Amino acid sequence: MTMPALNLSPAKANRSLPSRHLADLDLAQRREAVAELGEPAFRANQLSHHYFARRETDVSAMTDLPAASRERLAEALFPRLLTSVHQAECDDGTTRKTLWRLHDGSLVESVLMGYPQRATVCVSSQAGCGMACPFCATGQAGLTRNMSTAEIVEQVVSAARLSDEAGLGRLSHVVFMGMGEPLANYSRLVAALRRITSPAPEGLGLSARHITVSTVGLVPAIRRLTEEDLSVTLAVSLHAPDDELRDELVPINNRWKVAEVLDSAWHYAKRTGRRVSIEYAMIRDVNDQPWRADLLGRLLKGKLAHVNLIPLNPTPGSRWDASPKDVEREFVARLRAVGVPTTVRDTRGREIDGACGQLAATQRSDDPQGGTEELAHAPRGESRKVAL
Ligand code: SF4
Repeated sequence: MTMPALNLSPAKANRSLPSRHLADLDLAQRREAVAELGEPAFRANQLSHHYFARRETDVSAMTDLPAASRERLAEALFPRLLTSVHQAECDDGTTRKTLWRLHDGSLVESVLMGYPQRATVCVSSQAGCGMACPFCATGQAGLTRNMSTAEIVEQVVSAARLSDEAGLGRLSHVVFMGMGEPLANYSRLVAALRRITSPAPEGLGLSARHITVSTVGLVPAIRRLTEEDLSVTLAVSLHAPDDELRDELVPINNRWKVAEVLDSAWHYAKRTGRRVSIEYAMIRDVNDQPWRADLLGRLLKGKLAHVNLIPLNPTPGSRWDASPKDVEREFVARLRAVGVPTTVRDTRGREIDGACGQLAATQRSDDPQGGTEELAHAPRGESRKVAL
């Protein structure tokens, strides 16, 4: 099989980042920034309150600021980061997907999902992805660039506002399972996690226990995250329990093998006390055999782990297809038989191209101005990545 090359180059990944935004800065840096603009330090608190507590991004609406300062502050700290170019909804309006255009024309997606007891947003951390998983449209097109901290945070702020407006309740959960490999954009991811979890006015004040960061298994970054004292949930996209198949399905496995990835995950679980989520896309006749369920069970037995099986989102023309339901049930039964908690992820948003990269792929095929065009030709059939 010919696969796109892995892209781990920081030089390429960091090109075309947007101008500095308030959400790129911690509170001390915000005070310095407003002081440089000749404003009193308390202005940083006012701006932070508007942005993080009131979810206000329009400086002209921050009426407690002197009119003479607003334009200067808007220019220096509130560059336009995200422009909504397409919105779609399904599940009676409880699933809402937004396609965003970034300042350089890159396209990313976020999905808001309302549940009876919570509202969750799935956000992107990179435009495109350099991990080259062959069953994923995003991976086929490669990495465009890392997203800035503020671009990541603004997806959450926008979702919080939308959740309120749409009557879906207060945004409570964030999952980093949209476009990109979050740990490949490490420093910006961690800064975004701090903004999301710090209490207002420093940040949005969401509970770290309600944040999930997924990774294909960048072992050194998992080890670094373990030391951050953040206690977010780690989700490992395993997709195969054996190196032979995982080398193909998740090419980064050629660098860090299953045993190393799981070792770092168990270390994370031990340090944080947080159960690791093992993500496993069920792909017909590829990784869904009973013996692979048994092997996975042996690897996970007795560990602080939970398996999330993801029915692959089948797309016309793709050679990757979802496992039949009876095969899926057998897989679940074998894992549960050895005491490994296992659930099958729901299939929210399928009728709006809910899987990662799909809406961007659709948009690009409709609109040649919409960014790198190759996504339109990417094989579809990528994993469902958005709901918990
Ligand atoms: S499945 Fe995830 S990590 Fe793999 S290429 Fe797609 S977006 Fe990247």
